[in-house]
Amino acid sequence: MSDVKELLAAFAEVADHPSAQADRYLAEGKRIIGVGPYYIPEELVHAGGGVPFGVWGMVGPAAEAKKYFPPFFCSICQMTLEMGLTGKLDRLSAMMVTGLCDNLRPFSQNWKAGVGNRIPMIFVSQPQNRFFPGGRQYAIDSYTEVKRDVEESLGTIIEDDALRSSIKIYNDWRSAMRQFVRLAGQHPAEVSVEERVKVINAGYYLLKEEHLEMVRALNAALGALPSSLAGYKPIVVSGIYEDIPEISRILDDNNYAIVADDIAKESRAFAMEVPETGDPLEALADGFCNLRNDSVLFDPKKGHCRAIPALAKEAGAEGVVILMAKFCDPEEYDEPITKIECEKAGVPVVVIEVDQSTETYEQARTQLETFGELL
Ligand code: SF4
Repeated sequence: MSDVKELLAAFAEVADHPSAQADRYLAEGKRIIGVGPYYIPEELVHAGGGVPFGVWGMVGPAAEAKKYFPPFFCSICQMTLEMGLTGKLDRLSAMMVTGLCDNLRPFSQNWKAGVGNRIPMIFVSQPQNRFFPGGRQYAIDSYTEVKRDVEESLGTIIEDDALRSSIKIYNDWRSAMRQFVRLAGQHPAEVSVEERVKVINAGYYLLKEEHLEMVRALNAALGALPSSLAGYKPIVVSGIYEDIPEISRILDDNNYAIVADDIAKESRAFAMEVPETGDPLEALADGFCNLRNDSVLFDPKKGHCRAIPALAKEAGAEGVVILMAKFCDPEEYDEPITKIECEKAGVPVVVIEVDQSTETYEQARTQLETFGELL
């Protein structure tokens, strides 16, 4: 147990001090490239000797970004722009941005106008129609352009062998993260919700091989312990992000155990598997095109909404907590259908609204206390 606590403390140190990680990498002579949501082929940055650094907004009030966005705009976009406008990201050599939702596209133009002269943007265009040859070719062409932009930003040429080796590291890392999520769900007494988030967030600020080594050590330590799930309420959480400190605290205070998740910043981000043979750029495109069950991806039959209760049943969860990111269209479209699918499957569900700019969650506390009693 003390072994586990020491390991968790190392993750928390990284997650709580992203700037210190950036300083360390810069002192080593590495260039850092910001990586926003979703599914950015950051293996390209890794293969070019750069450091991909996760930038998914931050918790706090937006001031400068309000000059660019109406108030009813998702907080990830607002807070990421706020970070750029207030100089918090000035050490980045570039910022990689996708256009997978209707908020990310205008965000990219605001980034260009407000921050782009200091931190150039690398726009990663991905096809929504992923299951026909034209969509795949679009992804390959787009990633070819992205590769050129990353090379220019890092001042290097990305060799195929280096890219293959980065793909392997990322596949190993995603697999270890999937294992961690399962183990953390079975060991809530050892890994609180708050600690679980820090393990995951640390991965956004470290080179993946460094994080992978830490996660493997933690997985081995947890795997050697018996499950401590008895007495906790096993749930699945779904949404875009869960790393709002007050939400983690409420889940911990009410003895919830996250036995599986459908969070974009968590398990959805670890779901991708990139082929390790063949042309590595085509492999990255195939990794993206093979993705399923995500609100930000074209999903006309709404497999995502059915996958959530199915995940709950498979993981032995007693309920689903949807953390609804405020003003997030893709999640809001899926929510009513997900609720119906959960009801059909006999899985209780509750919806909690979250926002990076909101710091008090008293209503959420009451909702989660009541939901816990229901379970
Ligand atoms: S998917 Fe939702 S949370 Fe993510 S950037 Fe788009 S609107 Fe914002």
